[in-house]
Amino acid sequence: MPNTFTDRSTTLFLSPQDVARLVGQQGISATLKGLASYITQDFLRWTAFDKSARLAAHSPDGVIELMPIADADSYTFKYVNGHPKNTARGLSTVMAFGVLADVATGLPLMISELTLTTAMRTAATSAVAARALARPDSRIMALIGNGAQSEFQALAFHHLLGIEEIRLYDIDARATAKLLGNLRNNPDCANLRLVVCESIRGAVRGADIITTVTADKTNATIITADMLEPGMHINGVGGDCPGKTEIHADVLRAARVFVEYEPQTRVEGDLQHMPADFSVTELWQVLSKQQPGRESDTQITMFDSVGFAMEDFSALRYVHDLAQAMHLGAGIALIPQLNDPKDLYQLIRPKTVALRASSEETVEAEMA
Ligand code: NAD
Repeated sequence: MPNTFTDRSTTLFLSPQDVARLVGQQGISATLKGLASYITQDFLRWTAFDKSARLAAHSPDGVIELMPIADADSYTFKYVNGHPKNTARGLSTVMAFGVLADVATGLPLMISELTLTTAMRTAATSAVAARALARPDSRIMALIGNGAQSEFQALAFHHLLGIEEIRLYDIDARATAKLLGNLRNNPDCANLRLVVCESIRGAVRGADIITTVTADKTNATIITADMLEPGMHINGVGGDCPGKTEIHADVLRAARVFVEYEPQTRVEGDLQHMPADFSVTELWQVLSKQQPGRESDTQITMFDSVGFAMEDFSALRYVHDLAQAMHLGAGIALIPQLNDPKDLYQLIRPKTVALRASSEETVEAEMA
């Protein structure tokens, strides 16, 4: 049975299949809209959070990161990796799980898969940013990088922004074919035109929005300033780690740049190539109307997305609420259940000790 804030007997466990069931029951469009709504609510409560940049352990082929955050009621963390060479070994580039805990007691309320959930929350965050920053009449998007995240980006921009045509490009033609196979003849995107392109330049020409979601542990420059057209919005998702970027510095110079949490993006985003005084705006300031977003129809805007812990906080809250309402997931005994919370030793106490103790108590009681 799923737990509640008052049920102390179990921690709710959500597997990838549970999250897939949750999406299956309400549909991907409603799920992305629900996630976007939770993410927006939390961006609007920005100052209520205890925030920090994520903690990264780097290795030659990848990174493993811990992403903690808390408000007055809930604490969450995500474990996530980024290993672009993994797919050649039959593993995902990005794999994740996370925990939602009760701040008042420290009790872990839920442990959940976050691989599928990360793809959906990243796409929902991209859409939240684009709704605030892209031209409202945007209809065409270039999608560069057609791997695990790409379908979710396509679906979020179709359902949340009204994107009608997506131009696809990947250096791996099989990845593009996989994306086409997943979205063609799919009732979730019946009115979406998908166009396969032979180059990045061809894909971005005439696009209103450019989404880059490639994985390569290098300082790539897949989008250069000569590809820009007035009024474009760039949703840069794949440059999210020191030494792993996608966008040429001249593109950032030409754009008004928006970030999630500036201290983290300065280190991890495409912003890492810019000087410390290069001006950026945090997205929450635009959503809360404290700072302008796009200032004209011709301005270039860029969301330098790296993924911030608060988006996972929102996503964990969202799947927890839905799983409880839909009775999904299983209770697991992660934390010991003790008759006397000061007696942790009871878990390993030899039975004979317990017996001797109780018979001695009986003798004492009889003598008294
Ligand atoms: P993936 O490995 O499944 O797919 C990446 C795709 O990029 C592959 O198909 C690969 O062929 C393609 N690619 C690599 N170099 C390219 C290039 N120069 N031009 C065109 N295509 C190229 O990875 P994924 O899970 O889809 O993740 C994609 C990226 O998004 C990763 O870098 C990941 O770290 C990042 N990511 C960011 C966030 C965020 O919040 N910003 C969240 C999740 C993932």
